[in-house]
Amino acid sequence: MEWAPIRKSAAARAAANLGDYGRARAEFSWDAARFELFGLPGGGLNIAYEAVDRHASGPRRNRGALRWIDRHGEVFQLTYRDLAELSSRFANVLRELGVRRGEHVFTLLGRVPDLYVAVLGGLKAGCVVCPLFSAFGPEPIRQRLALGEATVLVTSPELHHRKVRAIAGSIPSLRHVLVTGAQAEPGTRALAPALAGVSPEFEICPTRPEDPALLHFTSGTTGTPKGALHVHEAVLAHHVTAGFALDLKPDDVFWCTADPGWVTGTSYGVIAPLSHGATLVSDEGDFDARRWYSVLASQRVTVWYTAPTALRMLMRQRHDLPAEYDLSALRFIASVGEPLNPEAVVWSQETLGLPVHDNWWQTETGAIMISNFAAHEIRPGSMGRPLPGIDVGLLQRGKNGRARVHDGRVTELTGAGQEGELALRPGWPSMFRTYWHDPDRYARAFADGWYLTGDIARRDPDGYYWFVGRADDVIESAGHLVGPFEVESALMAHAAVAEAGVIGTPDPVAGERVKAFVSLRDGHGPTEDLRLELLAFGRRALGAVAPKEIEFDQHLPHTRSGKVMRRLLKARELGLPEGDLSTVEGFS
Ligand code: AMP
Repeated sequence: MEWAPIRKSAAARAAANLGDYGRARAEFSWDAARFELFGLPGGGLNIAYEAVDRHASGPRRNRGALRWIDRHGEVFQLTYRDLAELSSRFANVLRELGVRRGEHVFTLLGRVPDLYVAVLGGLKAGCVVCPLFSAFGPEPIRQRLALGEATVLVTSPELHHRKVRAIAGSIPSLRHVLVTGAQAEPGTRALAPALAGVSPEFEICPTRPEDPALLHFTSGTTGTPKGALHVHEAVLAHHVTAGFALDLKPDDVFWCTADPGWVTGTSYGVIAPLSHGATLVSDEGDFDARRWYSVLASQRVTVWYTAPTALRMLMRQRHDLPAEYDLSALRFIASVGEPLNPEAVVWSQETLGLPVHDNWWQTETGAIMISNFAAHEIRPGSMGRPLPGIDVGLLQRGKNGRARVHDGRVTELTGAGQEGELALRPGWPSMFRTYWHDPDRYARAFADGWYLTGDIARRDPDGYYWFVGRADDVIESAGHLVGPFEVESALMAHAAVAEAGVIGTPDPVAGERVKAFVSLRDGHGPTEDLRLELLAFGRRALGAVAPKEIEFDQHLPHTRSGKVMRRLLKARELGLPEGDLSTVEGFS
């Protein structure tokens, strides 16, 4: 089905950070953009200085930096000056403990102020910071602490009790466990008195742009987690891309719903909004439709960055629910992490009065690479166009589904509509610099001057990119290459379908057969009639690539960051080992 483009008004175009796309791309250079950064007063570059301290000593010092909503809905605010002082105290605590520059500081915390303080303070001390998602169970935590050679872990007494105590002794590098609050347990130090006992002044470590700063484990949609290492200069990409793709401005109230345990929650849930001097909203609570609408309304959120799964969950609610809230402050919505089906874009336009701007990036890219923009038309279902400073190519694929490398060379596809592996020209500042302790895997991620993303996409004649699937998710059925997302999108256009996960199952004739797992919206039951109706609906929309089989499943497996886990659906279907489950929602 063709979706009509969503056009923007002249006023929207005039107000947007990125106006003339062609001109912005032609004129942009990372070298020139570097002048937007301040740099440390004594020389060097440090993310925490760009994010916080430079504002703390300027006219924005009393502006809200972090507006935190606790589990019970109470709101607390830290100004830029507060955040600068608290993070300096944390850096002083690290120094007192003898933690050295370059050592690794991990956090395992819910979305609480101490998380932001520890991340920024760890950066100030010149440490490499790795925020872990607090819902992980002990084994994924142990695995990441060990693999990432943690020196320090900051956690809560409760998480320590439930998840860390039993494993801490088995991590040789781990010298200090700091627990939030005033009470230390054996083997830990209490953070609150430690922070109170040190100075709020700290001279930020003179890190250089290429010094390591952040370690992020990827969400493992396709295998075991890998630690992608980013450097301080990544802040340039966080800052610039938030301006272009999220249309972020200094007076915005910005809510990124991703947890800082994922790259989105660090790049855009901590660093980018602060680097713009905006006010960052952080909600300790979990998803709940009413709660989310009330956060948007009560905090007067102006820019909201969320995920397709969350939007689909909102779509499942009564359609008049948003009307109960005053969302008049909201001016821009963006989403990332998995394919955004066109209905979600249109639903948002019709229900919230604003469309969702999909954008694409990965843990490895550190920042948004492809995006729909505030000033430009949205083509529902498309990820948008490359950002200024980002060169994107589509590479011809070989038998294994990945870019075909022959004598060290790849072939770039230039025709409109051709599908290839999405590749990026290295050179943007937030590109990962290695996979921690896996340089061979890092080297394999590049060929012939390209970084190979592992995603398959196509480009339309106007340069908009359309996601097809992960290279290893693409289904080959009767000579057709079938992107599971395309099939999922088509099924989600049916009023009864809440979400779909599509895989290929072996078929002696067709090679693979397209099978869809479907969860239903409230008010619809898994009847045989509905199954037949959906098969016919799929055939009408997709023709030859339609699913041949449909199974109802109200509990589709998701990663904790919200992606439907096709890998797991497939393993279960074929009775294969389920592999690494540490990132699956509901597993601990
Ligand atoms: P992660 O590194 O865990 O953040 O996962 C990155 C992967 O998520 C990408 O390689 C894509 O497969 C998927 N992804 C991210 N954003 C989008 C998007 N806008 N559309 C489709 N897939 C996406």
